[in-house]
Amino acid sequence: MLRIAISACLFGERVRYNGGHRRDDALLDAWRGIVEWVPVCPEAECGMGTPREPVRLVRTGSRIRMLGVDSRNEVTQQMESFARGRIDALVEAGICAYVLKARSPSCGVGSTPLFDAEGNTERTGSGLFAAALVARLPDLPVAEEEGLADPHQREAFLERARAFERARTTTSPPSPPSR
Ligand code: SF4
Repeated sequence: MLRIAISACLFGERVRYNGGHRRDDALLDAWRGIVEWVPVCPEAECGMGTPREPVRLVRTGSRIRMLGVDSRNEVTQQMESFARGRIDALVEAGICAYVLKARSPSCGVGSTPLFDAEGNTERTGSGLFAAALVARLPDLPVAEEEGLADPHQREAFLERARAFERARTTTSPPSPPSR
């Protein structure tokens, strides 16, 4: 089985800011018996809790900050330091790919709205957790769930995951001999 991380809300866990989920039945059904899922919710796991105030990404100069939509409470550091440890744990767990929730300020990969200080959408970028993931593991296959709706794209992604897994297991140091 391929061990693939997934945004926990896509796996059906009720971890969204409003206590809901966004279970992706088509994806989970398509890869049943092929994939061992590793669900991760960066916002719930970093201590923001569920339910919670929704957050957004705001650009201040060259810095991207994660702020509460109404309170503007900042959780940038909280998320960034959580991401470092959680990504290390995922490497340790041997994931070979990651499916991420589109447009999320934590999980989106290129589709997340970035706001200016006045609250206008400037452009799109990546969520803070996803950006840290891609920076740490640039070769790891990552995709948003919306990019995997098509069966051909799903199969191509799975091939990339298999290739990553082959490379990962052939370059891992051998286990010490048992005595
Ligand atoms: S998109 Fe990411 S941070 Fe948001 S609920 Fe889903 S797993 Fe959690």
